[in-house]
Amino acid sequence: MNPILNLARPDILALQPYQHAAWEPTLERMHANEMPWRAEGDCTEAGLNRYPEPQPEVLIEHLAQLYGVAPQNVIAGRGSDEGIDLLVRAFCRADQDSVLICPPTFGMYKVSARIQGAGVVEVPLAKERGFELDVQAVLAAWRDNVKLVFVCTPNNPTDNLLDRAAIEVLCAALADKSLVVVDEAYIEFAGVPSMVEALERFPNLVILRTLSKAYALAGARCGALIAHPDIVSLLARVITPYALPTHTIDAVLKFTDAAHVAESRERIALILKERARLAEELAALPLIRKVWPSNSNFILVDCIDADAVLQAALGAGLIIRDPRSQPGLATCLRISVGTPEQNSRLIRGIARASGVAA
Ligand code: PMP
Repeated sequence: MNPILNLARPDILALQPYQHAAWEPTLERMHANEMPWRAEGDCTEAGLNRYPEPQPEVLIEHLAQLYGVAPQNVIAGRGSDEGIDLLVRAFCRADQDSVLICPPTFGMYKVSARIQGAGVVEVPLAKERGFELDVQAVLAAWRDNVKLVFVCTPNNPTDNLLDRAAIEVLCAALADKSLVVVDEAYIEFAGVPSMVEALERFPNLVILRTLSKAYALAGARCGALIAHPDIVSLLARVITPYALPTHTIDAVLKFTDAAHVAESRERIALILKERARLAEELAALPLIRKVWPSNSNFILVDCIDADAVLQAALGAGLIIRDPRSQPGLATCLRISVGTPEQNSRLIRGIARASGVAA
């Protein structure tokens, strides 16, 4: 057994999980209290009157292939949000355990921990070093009730890649002590390999991937949590019995086939081109103090007057993200790269608000 399971909540380890209706596709179903007929007009292959296969084998194999791992390393959920939630629920005892996060970062790590009643230890990224991961500070802040360390690379909203060697140092230093959860939601835009290759060396490493970004499937709600098979088995005890809707399963299989993977690559190339144009043109505007380098499909901008930039975007019919409550981002806004037309409209709007002819 992976010794990291010793960190899981004892009651989850001892839990007798819900026995969902057996998945026996060769037999006709009279065991799940479903209606025997489809709703009029239901054209799904499986039929929406039927509960879907829990962790569908075909889907799991497909995701494993997409991400270059074995099927036993994968559990699929409703977005990587569900992966985060599963980890927190399986490993953190309310009022006792904690997660460690490195702000400014993705908000759900903290929210999931709070919902579970877990503590949150915050070790800021080093802004003066381009929001670098401060490994020594993380290790100094670590306590033995910290069950999960979340790092996000490229980080949302600061856009930088965290140093891979530094993450490996964390994995090694926290072996048997904490899970290190590496959120790679935006890795496809970064042009660097995933950390999946390190899974064999670090049984405490967990990787989160999502279909919401590079594959344009945010509405399908599907993400993959990739980890040691014992961690995957543990989380399978906690996830709701039929977590993935039939529509989600169908959409993921359909829209991540070879043709769509090729489409995704082309679109990523266009996003990167537009990202460079947006960064260059925004940097030239008087209302913008600095454009942070980006490794994702969004840009963090430091503004002279963030309210004026927000208003300018709204005036152009566009909404951009206001992350100013996060540490180190008091004057920053986050802009998702849009279509060439949307990007041009945003630049024109901010240029006008800056008093620059556009
Ligand atoms: N991780 C990061 C870093 C994100 O930015 C997001 C969504 N914005 C998620 C995870 C969650 O994505 P999803 O649940 O759609 O997979």
